[in-house]
Amino acid sequence: MQRGSGSGRGGGMGKGGGRQHLGPAQSCRCPNCGYTQPHQPGVPCVNQACPKCGATMVGA
Ligand SMILES: [Zn+2]
Repeated sequence: MQRGSGSGRGGGMGKGGGRQHLGPAQSCRCPNCGYTQPHQPGVPCVNQACPKCGATMVGA
C-alpha cells in the first residue's frame, strides 16, 4: 500500500519516526577531521562549524 502525502493526520511526534527528506543532506561532515553530525533542518551544513576543529561542515 502506498501512502499519499500524509496531510490531515496531525501529531506524528512519536519516537523518531518522522524522518523526512527535505534537504539534500541528512548529515553534515567535517572535511578536515571527519567528524559527522546530524543535519539540522533549516541550517545548511556550510553554515555550521565543526565542534571539534572549527572547520566548515559539508553535506554528506
Ligand atoms: Zn572537524
